[in-house]
Amino acid sequence: MMNSLRVHIDSGRIPHALVIDGGTDEDRMKEALEFCASILCTSKGQKPCGTCPQCKKALENQHPDIISVVREKDRKTIGIQILRDMVEDSYVLPNDSDKKIYLIPHAEEIEPKNQNALLKTLEEPPAHATFILLCPSHSVLIGTILSRVSIFSLEEVSEVKKQDAEKANELAVQIANAIAKKDEAELVFVASAFDKNTDILEITLEALKLIIRDAVFAKAGRNEFISTSSESAKRLASALSNEQLVSLQKAISDIDFAISVHSNKNLTQTRLSSHLFGAIL
Ligand SMILES: [Zn+2]
Repeated sequence: MMNSLRVHIDSGRIPHALVIDGGTDEDRMKEALEFCASILCTSKGQKPCGTCPQCKKALENQHPDIISVVREKDRKTIGIQILRDMVEDSYVLPNDSDKKIYLIPHAEEIEPKNQNALLKTLEEPPAHATFILLCPSHSVLIGTILSRVSIFSLEEVSEVKKQDAEKANELAVQIANAIAKKDEAELVFVASAFDKNTDILEITLEALKLIIRDAVFAKAGRNEFISTSSESAKRLASALSNEQLVSLQKAISDIDFAISVHSNKNLTQTRLSSHLFGAIL
């Protein structure tokens, strides 16, 4: 666990509303679950002990007192009703233990206008409740939210991971630009980078998803960029129709799914460009 969080746990001053940003999706989730385990752990020694039943359930994200708040499957953002339900539920006393932890793994999916629904609760959370918001960067949250939470940044990312992330961002931008130009040959060429480095395929897809998400927003006249390249997002937005953007998002989900099911990155790489290009035809 990162030092800044550990200090809070060791001193017993546990923040009731916090944001964890930086690192990868996995890094943030791991950090959050360790933090949850520390809150719920029944050991008398250092927390989380990692061996008590509370810790085990928390670390596997199977604990009934950790409530994950995610968007509905057919939506791109976390709807206002989901947030209102969470707020309402947080005022109901817990059943089993004396704690309730609300974990939002993708707080970047809460539209800024809907973030207001959380203000009152984050300012004065019920005594038994803790709210944990995860996002790539806390800049996706509005100022009035940021002033009510403690922010913990995962900066201790290894050099190799950092280089991979930079490379992945670069590739995502190149792919987005090739798609915007509708240049299949260039797309095939860019995708060939994955032949030599299969590890960055998944993080490239993550970066690409953010660019396309930004393009969808830009298309709707909303310049709320969370990707590393607003330029590419704007280019995509002007080159493609809404249908094409949605179809691109679906193509990437399909590729993600193929990777997770088959763990066969080679198969996916060769089809990557045809999948993506097929989506905009
Ligand atoms: Zn424990």
